[in-house]
Amino acid sequence: MKKIIIANWKMNPDTELEAVSLTQKIDSENLIIAPPYPFLGAVRKSQKLSKLGAQDVFWEAKGAYTGEVSVTQLKSLGVQYIVLGHSERRILGETNDAVVKKVKAVVSLGLIPVICIGDGLSDKIAGRSEVAVMDQLMPTIEALKSFKSGKIIFAYEPVWAISTQKDAKPDNPENARNMILKIKNKVLDEGLKGLEFHFIYGGSVNGLNAGGFLKYDEIEGALVGGASLKPDELTRILKI
Ligand code: PEP
Repeated sequence: MKKIIIANWKMNPDTELEAVSLTQKIDSENLIIAPPYPFLGAVRKSQKLSKLGAQDVFWEAKGAYTGEVSVTQLKSLGVQYIVLGHSERRILGETNDAVVKKVKAVVSLGLIPVICIGDGLSDKIAGRSEVAVMDQLMPTIEALKSFKSGKIIFAYEPVWAISTQKDAKPDNPENARNMILKIKNKVLDEGLKGLEFHFIYGGSVNGLNAGGFLKYDEIEGALVGGASLKPDELTRILKI
């Protein structure tokens, strides 16, 4: 099976010119590029093989919501995938409730949510990683029960493994696989008929360690932050 690689550029690069140049260097068939909002149009125009993603969205369809962006607006630019509930957004105050509203808005319009769930360092230290992950997973499962079709990606991203966190280390691939299996089993137990699910890992994935994660059938891809801004690194991941 082809793996899904999602390049989350976060708030990088600085200019549209750099975004276009980076796209041209990494453009590849099973890659989804999620640039910052202002560069979506330019990246789309430079893509020949990859697909377009966004890093967030607002749940309302239109109206007086200064600074927000709707699913329809993103769709009109060619966006197919939308990252939701990224830990960097949760740290800024995004709640499970907001993530649920966004999931519903995205699936309603036929786009694919990439729902990020993960345990923090304090959860890991306290031995409550699974509880923390399930606390984020369950509300989205409830939200998905009203849909009869759609494709959903869950990204297991332990917060302590994200490269910008202090002393970040990637998860051990075996642990990541085990947590993904727990997430997958929970999702499948709920009998959500008609929906197609995929499960990926994110957290300090690079050209050197990607093979350790992607060798497992249960890890269907990777959400890549820092390394996605380095064409050589990303190319190595894509080759794997
Ligand atoms: C991310 O931002 O989702 C991520 C996994 O970042 P990094 O690869 O830099 O750890």
